Amino acid sequence: MGSDSLPSTLTSTKPTPIPTNELDEEHDHDDSPSTAALLSFNTDSSSSSEPLSTSNNKPLFIVLILVTCISLSVASAFAYLFFSSRSPSSSSTTTASSATSPLPSVSHARPLTKLNRPKVILISSDGFRFGYQFKTPTPNIARLIANGTEAETGLIPVFPSLTFPNHYSIATGLYPAYHGIVNNHFLDPHSGDAFYMGAIDPKWWLGEPLWETVVKNGLNAATYFWPGTQVHKGPWNCPLNFCRHYNSSVPFEDRVDAVLSYFDLPSDEIPDFMTLYFEDPDHQGHKVGADDPQITEAVSRIDRMIGRLIFGLEQRGIFDDVTIIMVGDHGMVTTCDKKLIFLDDLAPWINVPDNWVISHTPLLAIMPPSGYSPSDVVAKMNQGLSSGKVENGRYLKVYLKEDLPSRLHYSASDRIPPIIGLLEEGFKVKQKRSKNKECGGSHGYDNEFFSMRSIFIGHGPQFARGRKIPSFENVQIYNLVTFILNIKGAPNNGSASFAKDVLLSAA
Ligand SMILES: [Zn+2]
Repeated sequence: MGSDSLPSTLTSTKPTPIPTNELDEEHDHDDSPSTAALLSFNTDSSSSSEPLSTSNNKPLFIVLILVTCISLSVASAFAYLFFSSRSPSSSSTTTASSATSPLPSVSHARPLTKLNRPKVILISSDGFRFGYQFKTPTPNIARLIANGTEAETGLIPVFPSLTFPNHYSIATGLYPAYHGIVNNHFLDPHSGDAFYMGAIDPKWWLGEPLWETVVKNGLNAATYFWPGTQVHKGPWNCPLNFCRHYNSSVPFEDRVDAVLSYFDLPSDEIPDFMTLYFEDPDHQGHKVGADDPQITEAVSRIDRMIGRLIFGLEQRGIFDDVTIIMVGDHGMVTTCDKKLIFLDDLAPWINVPDNWVISHTPLLAIMPPSGYSPSDVVAKMNQGLSSGKVENGRYLKVYLKEDLPSRLHYSASDRIPPIIGLLEEGFKVKQKRSKNKECGGSHGYDNEFFSMRSIFIGHGPQFARGRKIPSFENVQIYNLVTFILNIKGAPNNGSASFAKDVLLSAA
């Protein structure tokens, strides 16, 4: 799933505050120009009368006062009529980006009209970098945005911004240090066993993913691909027909159609929670970087799949009843061969052989054998990197994992090797120099980089229409889903208040 893919403490989430009174703010904002317009009108009329008022002619002065009073009354009346008749439509102009959608006029969730329970489809478009939606017309995604709630500046991945750690953070609400999938590949420090992307042994997959939570609460889940879904956990046993085994060659259309077909089941058998996963545009992003026409085509194709889903739901008369949450796991940044750092160049300071390195790039993870002091290795590596003698050395900084910035939440697991390197955006680490020339795209970097952000769109009865919310970390999504389904979730790194702040209250 993605040729590469991407990590913290239970108490230290700092969700971005969500403004809950944005409608009021928007109206206030609307009012200010109108007030200004009235003021300028008054000013103009008084200034035009100014030269005349200097006259001593009393009858003329009285006439003038009368004229002024009459004009002010007429102006006020017109102003009243104008603004009162305009106010309903001014609401929709405040969401110009949502052209066809009315602003939420109520703060309550819209009632279900056909289904008897909330249904959530969680969609991931792998490597859908925030901003791709502006590359080409995406009418279907735009429709979800216009009639739903969007993270205005994108969804923030967890560190490392790789596929497996992030998909499983979305599913569990946990940072990778707590859900256990700390990288796309890593070692169990006790057994020495290696985790790989197809591993389904439950020992790797900690925490409680949404599909398990849903079943624990007596509801049904169906998964059409998502890292971790094939792992048997608690009451979730990846049931035949409701848990597709990963196969990247299944056409995207078939995946959408399968999800739609669930809605043709008897109402008590329709899954309450579904996942839908697309490998694109990650796949193209790795090959050609973030700015190639191939990305544009891949984004178009994802949009067509969203259109197919919307159409199928509309045919069944349930589009407005079903909750669609569309996300990506991380962004993408273009990389090229001038932005390379070679570990072998550090030899004058310390020899870091290939077999110490769990992953090279963009997440540099190093586990020196016993007998070597990790802090000594870190000190020598940083000495070399900052010496000015190592090509691009200043773009890599190496840390003992416990010294990483706490915002990365990437130390509280013994699966995380003791030494972690942080790269500047777009740089890569290689073991040794080679003649290979390569340009492409990558992700896995510090989740603070804007290029690592993906998208978040929520559409359905509990999402306000045309609403923009600030960016947030994807560990919040678990609580959003459990809130919508009205079920009890497991403890996680998301904030308890997030769902209430983002969702409309119960009808
Ligand atoms: Zn990915």
